[in-house]
Amino acid sequence: MVLEESITAIKGIGAKTALLLNKLGIYTKGDILKYFPRNYDKYDKIIPISMVKSGMTAIISAMPVSFPMLKQMGKKSILICEVSDGSGKIELNWFNMPFMKSKLAKGVHMIYRGKVVRKGKFISMVQPEVLTEVEYRRKTEVLQPIYHLTKGVTSNLLRKSLKEVLAEVTSSIDYLPKNIRDENSLISLKDALQEIHFPKSYNTLVDARRRLVFDEFFLFALSIDRLKLGREKTPSPYIVNDDSTVVDFISSLPFSLTNAQQKVWEEVRADLMSGKRMNRLVQGDVGSGKTVIAMLSCLLMAKNGYQASVMVPTEVLARQHYDSFSTALEKYGVRVVLLTGSVKGRERKEVLLRIEKHEADIIIGTHALIQEKVVYDKLALVITDEQHRFGVKQRERLTDKGDEPHTMVMSATPIPRTLAVILYGDLDISIVNELPADRQPIKNCVVDEDYRMTAYKFILDEVKKGHQAYIICPMIEKSEDNDELSDVISYTDELISLISNKARVRYLHGKMKNEEKNHIMDEFAACRIDILVSTTVVEVGVNVPNATVMMIENADRFGLASLHQLRGRIGRGGAQSYCIFMSGNTSKEAMERLNILNTSNDGFKIAEEDMKLRGPGDVFGIRQSGDMAFNIGDIIGDADILKLTSETVKCMSDKTKNECYDRGRKFYSRGYGYGEDVMTL
Ligand code: ADP
Ligand code: MG
Repeated sequence: MVLEESITAIKGIGAKTALLLNKLGIYTKGDILKYFPRNYDKYDKIIPISMVKSGMTAIISAMPVSFPMLKQMGKKSILICEVSDGSGKIELNWFNMPFMKSKLAKGVHMIYRGKVVRKGKFISMVQPEVLTEVEYRRKTEVLQPIYHLTKGVTSNLLRKSLKEVLAEVTSSIDYLPKNIRDENSLISLKDALQEIHFPKSYNTLVDARRRLVFDEFFLFALSIDRLKLGREKTPSPYIVNDDSTVVDFISSLPFSLTNAQQKVWEEVRADLMSGKRMNRLVQGDVGSGKTVIAMLSCLLMAKNGYQASVMVPTEVLARQHYDSFSTALEKYGVRVVLLTGSVKGRERKEVLLRIEKHEADIIIGTHALIQEKVVYDKLALVITDEQHRFGVKQRERLTDKGDEPHTMVMSATPIPRTLAVILYGDLDISIVNELPADRQPIKNCVVDEDYRMTAYKFILDEVKKGHQAYIICPMIEKSEDNDELSDVISYTDELISLISNKARVRYLHGKMKNEEKNHIMDEFAACRIDILVSTTVVEVGVNVPNATVMMIENADRFGLASLHQLRGRIGRGGAQSYCIFMSGNTSKEAMERLNILNTSNDGFKIAEEDMKLRGPGDVFGIRQSGDMAFNIGDIIGDADILKLTSETVKCMSDKTKNECYDRGRKFYSRGYGYGEDVMTL
């Protein structure tokens, strides 16, 4: 089969449908094979209505006890029907689905599955799916893949197309030599692709996933291996001498450096002055104060007549760094510029010119820094902050901009050292393992829906004291394929109508225009917004020390690393801070996971505990967005596979390595895997 063949070659996909699929990143037959389900639906047992609780997705078997009622509210309609199963009654609500009425005959038992929410004193089930006994039984037997969809693309369309493409796949698609497959007990790629989309059973699905995760880590391990080859301590053309302004700068700081910061700075400084090229990872928990290390490095380079650049993953973070770098360093005669997507027109031209003519010493920005148009004069140090958000390729591209510059990558993802050595195999590692002494530990609580009003009251009390709060929702807007998750836009509306004018509430998400995002962040930083409802776009690096409350909706849906990063947005100043984890899911597993955060504020400890708690197979469903941007592999949950791939690569001949790399890359090309471009928020 031809993997590069366009999806329009698939029956039933015309130019119009193809455009819709393009939106999901699907252009070729190969792409659709790699469009893995984001989760699988398992239908649980039917429970009595008396046991139904708000927050859960429940399945009940009941019959209508009232006539369905259709209420019209402007353009919207709501269909209401009360059902009973003998143990209790519950109201069912459907929004804008008047046609459901025909499925609700009084006295006829049906099975309803939907999210249960609280409405004042009562609970109701929203948008329930209505199933017959037979349909329900069928759904309990097979795992139903759930895909990320977009308007006009249904699961059915994907399934039909996948069937057709899968039928063309032959065993020659497998790039892994048979002995490597056997040694690692891996199923064939052909089988893995079949099973990930159409699992016969839970066990076959676990095998399929294991194979695909292996591939992803394996190709990553191969690219790290290649980087390492080119990185044996090479001499550096950039001679760096000590400079007295560095000491001045340190003594002018409003705080003294922690021991950890001092130690790491010594390591970095020694690297820069060694005459060899620096390749260093600076890892440190959120709030450990990594930025100042970057500032010191940039200052030293600037004073030696070189340029330095700092690349960050979001526009918001770039602006924040630009502000703090220029405030801190301009008094030492260091010129700082900002280059991001929203720097446009004449301003952009000017910035580019200043970089080229070396009228700028420090260049801070987003991906814009690696575009072709940017020409540097003497780029001798390249820093990537929040490195886990970038792919290896992006990191490389910035390095390529200079002539073998020193490189430093900073990451706040605390990962156990055993894994860091594998993931950053090409780098020396420094760890900022201490928080500034003035910090009060954050107080945490894990709560359910019943606590909601208390939580809002608590937030309003903090606002009254002049503090600010973040509320995090997993979604931007109501989604077609998942109605269980809170979304930023309707949440903000509801919150505003609930608390009226007691606080200034605004929202922020990654899909807003850059200018809008900047504006909102400026307003929040200037304390003209009290409560910021946001997606995880604030997860990376944002520093507003006056914010003291972080409330996370659907907390059970986030990975622990993400939750820890989010929590890192508070507790950055002197005031006591509070983190509220709101979870509708009160299952033992969910509570156990959240409890790790409840009892510890130490990122490294959390990562270790997380690794202990999660075995293979546990990883379906939860995207570890705080971790490195792997596509399906999860560095903590799949740590065993990660170690396995690193061992495997160590034992391979150069020839086999090259063959595997080339053939593997061919299949896992565009948009896939850590080595490729990673989407930013
Ligand atoms: P991160 O490591 O998460 O990037 P930052 O560098 O943004 O952390 O630092 C977080 C906050 O702590 C900033 O407001 C910074 O000014 C402050 N800070 C950094 N180092 C110290 C220190 N040694 N003592 C007190 N505050 C510090
Ligand atoms: Mg930071």
